[in-house]
This record gives sequence, structure tokens and C-alpha cells, in this order.
Amino acid sequence: MQTWSSVDVPTIPGTPRPLRLHDTATGQVRPTSPGETARMYVCGITPYDATHLGHAATYLTFDLVNRLWRDAGHDVHYVQNVTDIDEPLLERAIRDQDDWIVLGMRETALFREDMTALRVLPPREFVGAVESIPEIVEVIAKLVVAGAAYRADDSEYPDIYFDHAATGHFGYESNYDEETMRKLFAERGGDPDRAGKRHPLDALLWRMARPDEPSWESELGAGRPGWHIECSAIAVNRLGLGFDLQGGGSDLVFPHHEYSAAHAEALAGDRPFARHYVHAGMIGLDGEKMSKSRGNLVFVSRLRADGVDSAAVRLALFAGHYRADRAWTDDLLTTAEARLARWREAAALAAGPSVDDTIARLRDHLTNDLDTPKALAAADAWADEALKRQGTDSAAPGLFRDAVDALLGVLL
Ligand code: ZN
Repeated sequence: MQTWSSVDVPTIPGTPRPLRLHDTATGQVRPTSPGETARMYVCGITPYDATHLGHAATYLTFDLVNRLWRDAGHDVHYVQNVTDIDEPLLERAIRDQDDWIVLGMRETALFREDMTALRVLPPREFVGAVESIPEIVEVIAKLVVAGAAYRADDSEYPDIYFDHAATGHFGYESNYDEETMRKLFAERGGDPDRAGKRHPLDALLWRMARPDEPSWESELGAGRPGWHIECSAIAVNRLGLGFDLQGGGSDLVFPHHEYSAAHAEALAGDRPFARHYVHAGMIGLDGEKMSKSRGNLVFVSRLRADGVDSAAVRLALFAGHYRADRAWTDDLLTTAEARLARWREAAALAAGPSVDDTIARLRDHLTNDLDTPKALAAADAWADEALKRQGTDSAAPGLFRDAVDALLGVLL
């Protein structure tokens, strides 16, 4: 699938720091330790509606990871999928009497526009589920042969399910107990009560064709893939097992990331799927999580249409820590716009105080589990000082501009 256009990332002086990130599986902030090429997979959208600020917060989080690894000299192999076939897409298409293919293409195109406007560095590979069906089928067929998957005991629709216990360490990613897993599985698209499964927590790999549903011919019989195996196959086939980071919103901790990992690990007989599982918090509005089902969404495209500067959207979302669930408010945006104006004013000065320490502090804070609130405060301190006393370093304003562009993606 076509990705979106990239932006230049300035190189900045000083000493980069290794990136430390919170890992859900171990519950600890640990150093990432990529090789020459850092390998990152971030779960993409299901394109049935426009990009809202919850999505933006997630993709901006991993944009920071991308930028910090680049700053540290790594080449970044970033893969993101598009779930362009799944229940929510089909349901929306039926509701709106739309063609699911057209709906998916339209919303994916809008997503690319939103990501471009937000200056998110594009993934190297942007991969659709539909175009990946042959490789997903191959993985499912291997899981069946390995005894990690089976057909539901159902004469009408012998769908293929994953034996969740196949790896012997199911649950290590989320660390949830079985009761919590069952609850979340039921709430988030799982089918615990489906007849013919061996265990309620076994997850769908291949759904046999139903009348009036899209399906693809394959050695498994005509049908379509489940969501978790999609990401599992796309990630491992491009990045290999044990890649550096699997990312997404915190609502993907379970079931999605647990199963994506388990599928790949059952097939490989080895672990881990990813060396870090990193999750971004949810963005709320009026005290509630922003979600399609609640209808309380703030769309990136709406903000763009209203003429909101995407740099201000970045600063508003970075004012809180990425792991915290936080609220989107008008005040947050107003504060971000004022901060952006101050930074721009300072960056436009003919000279300023030395920015070396500020760059070091930006790196320190950001590589410490993406501590954006402290990073913004460090940049504020330089801008305030520059505006108060100017200083004599004529290179400083330009370096400041490059540093916040390179490390925060904020264009002054
Ligand atoms: Zn995924």
C-alpha cells in the first residue's frame, strides 16, 4: 500500500542518548537496544472513520520513538498495517449503504492526509490486510500443522481458531489474570461463547465465508482472516521475530497484542514476538474516553479545516505524558498555541543564549520514556530566556528550531 510523504529531519549537534521506554510485559522502563536498524511495528487503523485525536496521540508517540532512534544514529524499519477488512468496516459500510472497499480507500486516504499534516514520519512499509491475505493464509496453515490451531467443531462454519495455550506462556504480555482476559476478550471483539471452540479464550484465525460477506479463496477454504493474525504475520514477515518494539494504544494490550505475540511465538517455537510492548494512553473528551461508540470524537481533519496549526496539536498532546489517559480541552489547545507562538518568536531572534544545554535536556527527558512535559518545559526555559535577554549566540535560534523539529517534530 502507498505510504505518505516524508519530511526532512534536521541533524543536531551533541551526544544522543539511548532510548528507554516502558515495556508492558515487564512493567518496567527499560533501555531499548536496537541494532544498526531499529525495527518497529505499530498497529494501524481500521479505515471506517476519520482519524481522531486518540489515534493522533498514538501515532505521535511512536513518531517520537522513530525520531529518537534516528537521532541516535539508527536506521528505522517501521511497519504499520491497515486493517482494510474486518467487522467494524463491514458494519459501517452496511449502515451507510457504502461499498466497503470504497469506504476503506477513502478513509485510508484521509488518514494519510492527516498524518502528513501532523508531520508524522511515514512507515517504510504501510501494509493492507487484504493485500497480505496470501501470507496470512500461509501462517495459519502452518499453525494448523503445528497443532496450535484447529477447526471449530461446527458443521456449518468450521472456522479456524488458535489454541491460546499453545505457547505455554499466554498472558505474559498483558499480565492479566484469566478473569480479566475473559472480560476484555468479550468486550473487545472476541467470541468467548462461540459454540465449537475448545476454550473460550481461543481466538479466531480464519473465518469461513458467509453469504453476503467478502471472502478470499485459499487452501484453508474461502474466508477471511482474523485481526490478530493479520498483525502477527505482517510484522514477523517483515521484521523477524524479536523485533524491537510493538506499539499501539492501551486498548490493544489485550486481546490484540497478546494474541499477535502468541500466534507468532507458537509458530516459531521461540519468543519474544517483540522486545518492547509499548502502549499509549487514551484521550478523553468531557470526562469520557474518545471513542466511536460514544460519538465524542475530535477529528484531526476537523481541526485542520478550522485552521489549527498541526504543530499546536503536537504541543497540546505532548503537554501530557504519553502513557497517561488524558483529556482534550479547548484550554489545552489555547495553551499550546501560546507556547508555539513564544517558541516561534524566540526562534526568529537574531541571536540567543547558548542552546547546547537545552538540547542535552531535551534528549535526556525524551529518552527517559518520552517525558514530553519536561522536554517542553526545557524548551520553554530557553525561549523565555532568549526573549528576556536575547544573548549573543547567533546560531542559537536556528539550532533551537532544528532541535524541536528533529526531536519533537514541531516546525517553528
Ligand atoms: Zn495490530
